[in-house]
Amino acid sequence: MVVDSVTAVEGEPLAPRTTLRIGGPARVLLRCATRDGVVAALRAVREAGVPWLVLGLGANVLVPDDGLDAVVLTLVGDLASISREGTRIRAGAGAQLARVVRESLSAGLAGVECLGGIPSTVGGALAMNAGAYGQEILNVLAWVEVVEDDLTVRRLERWEVHGGYRWSVLGKGRIVTSVELALRAEDPEVLREHVRKAREQRQRAIPPEPSAGSVFRNPTGDYAGRLLELAGCKGLRRGGAEVSQRHANVIVNTGVATAADVRALVAEMAGRVHERFGINLALELKVLDGKGKVLAEPGSPLA
Ligand SMILES: Cc1cc2nc3c(=O)[nH]c(=O)nc-3n(C[C@H](O)[C@H](O)[C@H](O)COP(=O)(O)OP(=O)(O)OC[C@H]3O[C@@H](n4cnc5c(N)ncnc54)[C@H](O)[C@@H]3O)c2cc1C
Repeated sequence: MVVDSVTAVEGEPLAPRTTLRIGGPARVLLRCATRDGVVAALRAVREAGVPWLVLGLGANVLVPDDGLDAVVLTLVGDLASISREGTRIRAGAGAQLARVVRESLSAGLAGVECLGGIPSTVGGALAMNAGAYGQEILNVLAWVEVVEDDLTVRRLERWEVHGGYRWSVLGKGRIVTSVELALRAEDPEVLREHVRKAREQRQRAIPPEPSAGSVFRNPTGDYAGRLLELAGCKGLRRGGAEVSQRHANVIVNTGVATAADVRALVAEMAGRVHERFGINLALELKVLDGKGKVLAEPGSPLA
């Protein structure tokens, strides 16, 4: 590809680019450092008729063992930068969410202080409407710039971005390139207390082994983890994939897990909850097929 701000690697292994540490290589990985680079990359990909997807920190995806016969775009350089003006933080979508949170804390700004422990890029967080301990990223969004699948570049104001519990319209068919977050000044002591509480709760709940966080969404009025625990899922194992002893809604990679192991375990967990409670759990984890298509969207039952 003849664009300065885009570099291409064929057959790039994806397992190290996911928090589960699972999955085969990408047909091609494109590292895009500017918005124009994203447009050029997408144009080339569309002309070649190849499927594409954008990958953040890979903290909510399951990549197949044979890899992806697709072009995987990642955002770097300008698209991973952060700046602040007053109570507003502007970030490239490839920037790590933790960096944005650190910047907000050092400026005494509230709104994202409980999100610091979520492994995520800013783009991934907006696509998923990441949230924790009463905060969600969409609640502080001012505007977002996206490259649409038809190559148009648009700036969407907050009211144009629909989303809810772990989903948003930004998560499909478009690439978030940059965002502005509107935060508010807060007493540093109050901020520190919020951070401390969130950290404490997270340390208790989240296992230290490689995982993708919650596998299933919480059904209305209940917790997937509670139902899975009562259905006897803790400690269940398929190959190298195991349901965490610490949290029944988290699958960990004990070291040799394959995507097939994880999928078998996911099916077993969902089956047990359905058998015991008659509830169809919906996936939060994005399980990808060989072309990078999400097999079961968050919000729909496992296919
Ligand atoms: C240990 C652990 C703890 C977690 N705790 C939480 C938690 O408390 N709360 C929570 O909400 N989540 C949590 N998660 C899940 C995960 O961190 C979030 O879903 C996160 O926002 C995913 O971001 P990512 O950059 O890794 O996206 P990826 O996993 O790389 O991608 C997720 C989706 O977002 C899309 N996407 C990524 N970047 C862009 C972009 N620039 N433009 C458009 N679409 C994009 C991808 O195509 C994909 O569909 C946890 C995960 C782990 C491993």
